[in-house]
Amino acid sequence: MERLEQTTIQSLQGVGKKRAELYARLGIHTAYSLLRFYPRSYIDFTAPLGIMEAPLEQPAVIRAEVYKKQPEQRIRKGLTLYRVYATDGVANMTITFFNNPYGYEQLAIGQTYLFYGKLTGNLTRREMGAPIFIPDAETPGMQPVYHLTEGLTSKMVMTNMREALSILQTAAVETLPADLLKEYGLCSFEYALQNIHFPQDAYTLSVAKKRLIFEELLTLQTGLLLLRQRNRKETRMRLRDPEISEFYAALPFALTGAQRRAIDDCLQDMQKNTSMNRLIQGDVGSGKTMVAAACCYACSKNRLQAAMMAPTEILALQHYDSLTHLLEPLGVRTALLTGSMPKSRKEKCKAEIAAGEYDLVVGTHAILQETTVFQNLALVVTDEQHRFGVAQRARLAQKGDNPHVLVMSATPIPRTLALIMYGDLDVSVMDELPQGRQKIETAAMSTDQRAKAYRFIRRQLDAGRQAYIVCPMIEDSETDLISVTAYAEELRKGEFASYSVGLLHGRMKPEEKEAIMGQFKAGKIQLLVATTVVEVGVDVPNATVMMLENAERFGLSQMHQLRGRVGRGSYKSYCILLSDHNSQENLARLQAMCQTSDGFKIAEEDLKLRGPGDFFGDRQHGLPKLKIADMMEDLSVLRTTQQAARALLQKDPLLEMPAHKGLRRMVGELFEEEKSGTFN
Ligand code: ADP
Ligand code: MG
Repeated sequence: MERLEQTTIQSLQGVGKKRAELYARLGIHTAYSLLRFYPRSYIDFTAPLGIMEAPLEQPAVIRAEVYKKQPEQRIRKGLTLYRVYATDGVANMTITFFNNPYGYEQLAIGQTYLFYGKLTGNLTRREMGAPIFIPDAETPGMQPVYHLTEGLTSKMVMTNMREALSILQTAAVETLPADLLKEYGLCSFEYALQNIHFPQDAYTLSVAKKRLIFEELLTLQTGLLLLRQRNRKETRMRLRDPEISEFYAALPFALTGAQRRAIDDCLQDMQKNTSMNRLIQGDVGSGKTMVAAACCYACSKNRLQAAMMAPTEILALQHYDSLTHLLEPLGVRTALLTGSMPKSRKEKCKAEIAAGEYDLVVGTHAILQETTVFQNLALVVTDEQHRFGVAQRARLAQKGDNPHVLVMSATPIPRTLALIMYGDLDVSVMDELPQGRQKIETAAMSTDQRAKAYRFIRRQLDAGRQAYIVCPMIEDSETDLISVTAYAEELRKGEFASYSVGLLHGRMKPEEKEAIMGQFKAGKIQLLVATTVVEVGVDVPNATVMMLENAERFGLSQMHQLRGRVGRGSYKSYCILLSDHNSQENLARLQAMCQTSDGFKIAEEDLKLRGPGDFFGDRQHGLPKLKIADMMEDLSVLRTTQQAARALLQKDPLLEMPAHKGLRRMVGELFEEEKSGTFN
């Protein structure tokens, strides 16, 4: 392994400074990382077809002999056509190259080749444009196709890859323990890499893939378990008295069964002398804040401190308001600490926290990164966890004297995925809404019904209610920003001229956002035009309409989140999805939104329609990026590897045995150890 890692990409034949830079763009710096650069697909030369057999308009491999080469033809300035004729003895085909004499020159009359390309034509005529080809005499095999960058050709990569593979051959590397290979019927590392790049046929490719997928998922699972193990540290911060009946009595409503269960899970965890690491997975509006409040209350009753963190200042303030309202009467002293507070106030607040004058500190997550010192921090609650990565989570647990960690996720996640994504946490699911919640009436409309939608919104505003219109926005997209600003302006002057219209977007300063949200909460803004910054957690019970512009640009779960911003009070609420996209997928998505209000069902649907990308997308969970395994397709391997990882860590909890050196290293690589230092 060392040898492969020490062989820089430039030391390979034919790789100079320029090509090394191209490789660097793909994240390839050494022979090792080159070997780990897996093909995106393959051209299978092992089963060529006859000319008339091959399907039209689809890539195919055809075996044919060249029998004629047309002299080059100048079609017009800058456009030269090269034409070659080939036959398979039954039919003929024309092969064309535009402006590319190389392919043309390599083809020789009387020679047979395997051509790969898209076949076009009609009843009798067949044509293939700019095919990839190899002489028929060569052992056919499968040719890798890589995700390249401009200036780097497949041929270059293949040549360099062959050299890297020959180094691998002499270096005798194996990354997994031998008994594991045996137990799960996996091929060697060398065989796997050889055949992932240059498979003989589909079978050897599948053998290679099996091993590499297993290896990758095992690495992931091992990493997650290591984190879990690390986070479950001994703590002195245990609850001796878990009795909180006064809290229940003070609530204006009865808790749902799911809330009670989640609270019980937490209280039980916190009575142990290892720290809690629990995720509350709840649907929008299921009342997660109450669970957090109960836990914070329990801590304060035990004379221990708790901290609650939100991803934005708006949310922090909102939590502060509702928690003080509920908990102050019970004697819980609560502080608000956010990044935008004046320095002097912050300093004072911190001093008081250190002196133990507060039981609960609510703030943005900056409060934990800064130099806040707690007197006896027992619990850290983070809200809307999908903005935190696995590594951040681990660091949280290291704050203070191993506090308990409670994570609240606003995004329901299919159960199958939750198991993996939160491999480092215990999970309580809240799939029950408080009683008496009305279903949010949801309708999909095309933009020619826009006037009708506006009319509907105006009627709601006239009745004293408030509304949101949310526009999709790609983070940092200048055009999106301009268009949402212009859109708000247009409404302000036109359809909603006699109403107060506010604008909220992610590029505003925290204070500006806060001010706008404050005005909306206070009812001073009637219609809030916003980007997805309102997505998470904002609670304005008087708002009854959520309209989404360009609904096709939102993920299903995201739409569900946004819809959850209304229907939070006693008023009947509505969601309007505006979209002109008539693709099958979009229609299915909109239909799912109109039909179900169960976040978990919607999440399953999202998974079916768009795959796990939306869940595993970087922003949402902070799991490392996988190269070859597909979390959904390889679900059964995922389970197997979870078991294998468990067994392995039981034998060797810190991966110190020589046989586990390779795995230890891969875990570091996958979780980008150098950057986060999580495993140090
Ligand atoms: P979320 O799970 O989306 O964070 P919140 O905690 O913000 O939900 O709760 C949504 C709303 O429901 C709040 O206004 C809260 O006061 C209310 N709520 C919470 N639990 C109950 C309950 N058991 N019965 C009635 N209303 C509740
Ligand atoms: Mg919430």
